[in-house]
Amino acid sequence: MGYYVSLERMDEIMNKLKNEYKIYAPKRFKNRGWKPDTDLIRYDEIDSVKEIVYDVKSDFSPKEIFFPINQTLFYFTEDKCTENSLGDKRDIIIFARPCDINAIKRLDTIFLKNGDKKDNYYEQLRDKINIFMIECRKGWDNCFCVSMGSNQTDNYSAAVRFQDNGLLLDVKDDKFKNYFSGETSRNFTPEFVQENQTKVKLPEISSSDLLKKACNLKLWDSFNTKCISCGACNTVCGTCSCFDTTDIIYNETSRNGERRRVWSSCMLEEFTTMAGGHKVRETAGERMRFKTLHKVYDYNARFGGTEHMCVGCGRCTDRCPKEISFPDTINSLSEEIEKISSGKSSREVDK
Ligand code: SF4
Ligand code: SF4
Repeated sequence: MGYYVSLERMDEIMNKLKNEYKIYAPKRFKNRGWKPDTDLIRYDEIDSVKEIVYDVKSDFSPKEIFFPINQTLFYFTEDKCTENSLGDKRDIIIFARPCDINAIKRLDTIFLKNGDKKDNYYEQLRDKINIFMIECRKGWDNCFCVSMGSNQTDNYSAAVRFQDNGLLLDVKDDKFKNYFSGETSRNFTPEFVQENQTKVKLPEISSSDLLKKACNLKLWDSFNTKCISCGACNTVCGTCSCFDTTDIIYNETSRNGERRRVWSSCMLEEFTTMAGGHKVRETAGERMRFKTLHKVYDYNARFGGTEHMCVGCGRCTDRCPKEISFPDTINSLSEEIEKISSGKSSREVDK
């Protein structure tokens, strides 16, 4: 069903929704941007539709709502473990763009379909999520969602087009239709960006031999001086899912405490440090190789189908303090793979 709803009316509807749902959307945080005098756009709970920042790309993805940056999993004493309760019983509505909705699908695969065990902590929050899709017709700088096939989705309860004084909505999910009954009917079918300025050619790695050669490219060494291993690219990414677990002991003499999981990053130097100090990936180049192949080869090799882990949101490029372009990195990899496949490469190294 399609509707036109004024901003004022939408706030009244949201007030009713808030009895049953917490509502999250991209929101502006004044002067909190990572460059001086810039604002930060990140997901947070909203009270009014007027708080939703829909006309610029958010700096962060919505993943922190259901995969928190820092999450207490359980509390322990010497003889007992108690699962952390979620507290607020309400379900959740997230206003999100198509690429981010597709990113949620990737996280679902990673946390819920990766082997025969589901990640319960992810599942209990994920089960609460309902999606209101923010229509995205033009894309933004550094987006390459079209190349990644993640520019479109029909995985939403409602789709929204923001206009100056109101919203057009396509409400698909029966459980939300009641909230909009009586509003002005209006035909509305969401549109999706069909071309980005930034385009990516995915590498065609068709054999284990080619994969080995891809791992040994000199291309990766160039990141040893460029990349400062800050991990910012992982933090903003909607599909990065690595975390550390850590036990917090409440005081030095007790064995009472809590276990938390905290976001981590494959680009950090310490990420692969093992007991005894051995590091699996010692250089920034090795870490960039791992991240790149994970995003555009490994995920697809693991789960099959046509999807890659990267959804082309471009945030990693937006956020990188060294201006390292992830699309350029993927394209360089693809170029090298093509050269190897056609027997022209002179840039492999033996390691
Ligand atoms: S790797 Fe970069 S472009 Fe791809 S989903 Fe993550 S942040 Fe977005
Ligand atoms: S944000 Fe840039 S510099 Fe930082 S780890 Fe990622 S690629 Fe390296």
